[in-house]
Amino acid sequence: MLPRKRSMGKILIANWKANPATLQDAEHLFHAEMKATKKFPQVTVVICPPFVYLARYASHAAVELGAQDVHWEDRGPHTGEVSPLMLKELGVRFVLVGHSERRALGETDEMVNKKLKAVLQNGMIPVLLIGEPEKGPARSDYLIDQLTRDLEGIDADGAKKILFTYEPVWAISTNPGAQPATPEDALSAIHEMQAIISKMYGFAPEVLYGGSANVENIAGFLSHPEICGAVVGGASLHADEFGRMIDIVAQL
Ligand code: PEP
Repeated sequence: MLPRKRSMGKILIANWKANPATLQDAEHLFHAEMKATKKFPQVTVVICPPFVYLARYASHAAVELGAQDVHWEDRGPHTGEVSPLMLKELGVRFVLVGHSERRALGETDEMVNKKLKAVLQNGMIPVLLIGEPEKGPARSDYLIDQLTRDLEGIDADGAKKILFTYEPVWAISTNPGAQPATPEDALSAIHEMQAIISKMYGFAPEVLYGGSANVENIAGFLSHPEICGAVVGGASLHADEFGRMIDIVAQL
């Protein structure tokens, strides 16, 4: 099992999604980001490439590898799926679970719950993404609903291993009309998440933020002790910008 969250320092998780489209571009991006990562060992950088590139990077110790999704069964008749056991065998340590782009394709809280359990059972770290679709007063209901359903049957020891991420869907850079949350927005949601988790388990975890994080705004989020890291989509596809983000986070 990994060291406890606190000893990871600040965490930056690069979610490449379905990018880059060619292996050659993926190689450039990966090696540039690995180089930037090596300069700042105090920051934990996790790269989540598409599955087809994942195996190529398994032997690079400088950077942590993450998967963007997982199935809940270790093996069997699940065409098109990748199992948690396969990821573990490859050296993957982090798995995104419950991303809104997967939920939009039909992933239910029940499926998210099974994935969380499977990732934990295989000794990897789930990065659970939670957030409301639209800005507004319904936020609390979404946070309570998603956390309660997604964590059903997971005990406190399991919950302590999860990296909770507040990622409001309206802030994701590729969504129409997207705008990043302000650090104040993020903190207010994160305090709510901490209160919900604390009521369920008796501890309040640090939480990551995701949604249009970039070189200009990253310090504003991660300078708060409650925010232990960020999930970075669009900006992680630009090695220079992502490298500068690592540098900024290292100075915090
Ligand atoms: C994401 O979708 O996980 C994400 C953080 O995307 P972006 O940074 O592009 O908003």
